[in-house]
Amino acid sequence: MSFASLGLIDPLLKNAQRLNYQTPTPIQLKAIPAVLDGRDVMASAQTGTGKTAGFALPLLQRLVQQGPRVSSNRARVLVLVPTRELAEQVLQSFTDYGAGLDLRFLAAYGGVSINPQMMKLRKGVDVLVATPGRLLDLHRQNAVQFDQVETLVLDEADRMLDLGFARELDAVCAALPAARQTLLFSATFTDEIRAMAASLLRSPVDISVSPPNVTASKIRQWVVPVDKRNKPDLFMHLVAEKKWTHALVFVKTRNGADYLSVMLDEAGYAVDTIHGDKPQPARLRALERFKTGEVQMLVATDVAARGLDIDALPLVINVDLPIKPQDYVHRIGRTGRAGSSGVAVSLVCADEAPQLAAIEALIGQTLRREEVPGFEADHRVPETSATGQIIKKPKKPKKPKVWQAAAGGEDTSLSGPNPFNVAKPRSKPAGKPTGKPSAASRKPADKPVGGRGKRPR
Ligand code: AMP
Repeated sequence: MSFASLGLIDPLLKNAQRLNYQTPTPIQLKAIPAVLDGRDVMASAQTGTGKTAGFALPLLQRLVQQGPRVSSNRARVLVLVPTRELAEQVLQSFTDYGAGLDLRFLAAYGGVSINPQMMKLRKGVDVLVATPGRLLDLHRQNAVQFDQVETLVLDEADRMLDLGFARELDAVCAALPAARQTLLFSATFTDEIRAMAASLLRSPVDISVSPPNVTASKIRQWVVPVDKRNKPDLFMHLVAEKKWTHALVFVKTRNGADYLSVMLDEAGYAVDTIHGDKPQPARLRALERFKTGEVQMLVATDVAARGLDIDALPLVINVDLPIKPQDYVHRIGRTGRAGSSGVAVSLVCADEAPQLAAIEALIGQTLRREEVPGFEADHRVPETSATGQIIKKPKKPKKPKVWQAAAGGEDTSLSGPNPFNVAKPRSKPAGKPTGKPSAASRKPADKPVGGRGKRPR
């Protein structure tokens, strides 16, 4: 089936063609006609399925057909997204798909000055893509009013709830006109999302293009069991041995991201980091440089897991598993996008077994394990299964040991070295408190990692 057969108008067809979109993806096949019809939609679509065009193309068409009639400080389509990165990405999609149309688009998010956003809203915009907090700020300051909103899109609704935006979402929805079209997209469908859908959507078209929560099938995934302290060395070993030259690397903490980036930099890779503490312009710059290939390795925390759209990224490396299993799906969704194949490798240590089991339960498969000679784990990673169970508990180590997961998922070292749990990258002076219980025996932050680990010859 072609885009033309979905009833899209010429300028949109040309734009899709210019982007080399030959045929609609499954979600586009279902969502485009429903959105054109003015129906509410509830779509369960994993990342990389082409969902943005699934709502943007038909909404652009409706805007064009209804004519330019937006007033100042108003928006006609409101797209709510969880992160600034996703806001920029969705804005870019509207700009690409709507090229040549006489429509105005704006992305509004926090972390940058509100004034330019207020200025741009003065003329009114046809599509406003926004994060919930900044949108409410703008609304409270009368920079945007909602009386002309015809369509509300909740993009990555699960992630918005994960990030604690439930109250903001309620406040926005309460302020919108009751007679409107609402489209809800979510990678995962928890009870909370279903409740939200039930309260916001009216007789929605229910779209599910692949079983919810299942990772893209073309992604080759495996797990490398390893002791926590050897993760950085194993990571560098794999990168060198497999000649990986362009990868998105996920770690749990900002310190971990800085730490690996120093190691990569010292090994001669062009590297950058992206995490929540980095100012927005620096994050966007890092992403741009990664997309153009100027940066080979982008080391990111989960803040970057959603909203990055990088075409044909061959490789995602999870140096740490995410706390929430859904984030695994989002992370590895960076690769294997729109049908291309990809690779996702996860370095897993013993105390991550519960996370691994939860991931396997979510994706409905047991991930293949592949040990790397020289880096075999002393602390065996317990066997897990796709039922979410940890099959065998590891034998008790002889000495009372070592890593324990605290309630919030933070690692707490009670004794022994934990070189990956550092406060600062190695190139900076050590000695600042890490905020963790101090252990006299802990290796200083600036000492090379993996000293006790086995290295391949
Ligand atoms: P999304 O899931 O909306 O983030 O889209 C994932 C990727 O698929 C983006 O890089 C889009 O440019 C691309 N894409 C979307 N629709 C199509 C299509 N019909 N054919 C080829 N690529 C597409």
